[in-house]
Amino acid sequence: MIILGCEHTAHTFGIGIVTDKGKILANVKDSYTSKDVGMIPHEIAEHHEKCSERILKEALKSAKVEWKDIDFIAYSAGPGLDPVLWRGYTIVSKWAKENQKKLVGVNHCCSHLSIGKLWNKMKDPVYLYVSGVNTQVIVQESKKGQKKEGKYHVLGETLDIGLGNMLDKFGRILDLGFPAGPRMEQLAKKGKYIELPYIVKGMDVSFSGLLTKAQQLFERTQASKEDLCFSLQETAFAMCAEVAERALAHSGKKELLLVGGVGANKRFCEMLNLMCKERGATFYQVPMDLAGDQGAMIAWEGYLRRDSYGDMEVNPHWRADEV
Ligand code: AMP
Ligand code: MG
Repeated sequence: MIILGCEHTAHTFGIGIVTDKGKILANVKDSYTSKDVGMIPHEIAEHHEKCSERILKEALKSAKVEWKDIDFIAYSAGPGLDPVLWRGYTIVSKWAKENQKKLVGVNHCCSHLSIGKLWNKMKDPVYLYVSGVNTQVIVQESKKGQKKEGKYHVLGETLDIGLGNMLDKFGRILDLGFPAGPRMEQLAKKGKYIELPYIVKGMDVSFSGLLTKAQQLFERTQASKEDLCFSLQETAFAMCAEVAERALAHSGKKELLLVGGVGANKRFCEMLNLMCKERGATFYQVPMDLAGDQGAMIAWEGYLRRDSYGDMEVNPHWRADEV
């Protein structure tokens, strides 16, 4: 079986082509960026529309397949930006109609988890999912002899904004462009630690107070860009490491898997690796090209859930634990 997966929940339009054995034949994407503002939904929708045919062509070419070889189309049904999701859905619906393919709506969050698990050949990890919008600690139900994909449970999550969005918001204040995470990582290398609000409530975290404090210090010129980037990272990453560690302790699982775009940050991985080592667990991440949003993860998740979902239009607020 060959599955074509289409990602279009936020700033990335991506197409991945995978086999039912989990082999990635192609993974092509194009991401919307902006110099001064964040994500403007109608501009992103335009971006996706404009690049969709080119990305499709490149993906089919790179996988060396044609439409007739594709068994079905998996697409990101949510969560995501409403107008962007609808534009993406319109694009895949057109392709499905033209080529007589079945559509399988996929949960974007679950696909981050399943591609990470596939890549690392893992059995039963604790997932730390840290993207632009999401910051969640997740485990999956697995019963002996179970064939179907198990249900996910969110053990802890952000009570306000996602870690990536927090970094991007602060990046906008510093005029770093969007997305700001990579540039902040570079600035942070020259910074030293200043205390910022560390907010962990049970298994949940909160980043808005941290962002407000960093903004105040910057606007009052009481701290340098470098020190603030370093301290924001250290504080937010430590908060995530704390809840991830508690999830490992509570569940008795021995593997931690970091997924989502913020997983590209080397310092974050270093902290999580250290925490895992100290408690006899193993830390896993996903390679850069699979860490952020892309189509291969949608194709693979579509394959795993192909019997449970079909054409479901879009669901902008679809949580991983509702799948
Ligand atoms: P995603 O939503 O999974 O595509 O992840 C996008 C988020 O990852 C954005 O908020 C980026 O700022 C963030 N990000 C990307 N690279 C890095 C990095 N090196 N360090 C921190 N955050 C990053
Ligand atoms: Mg994502």
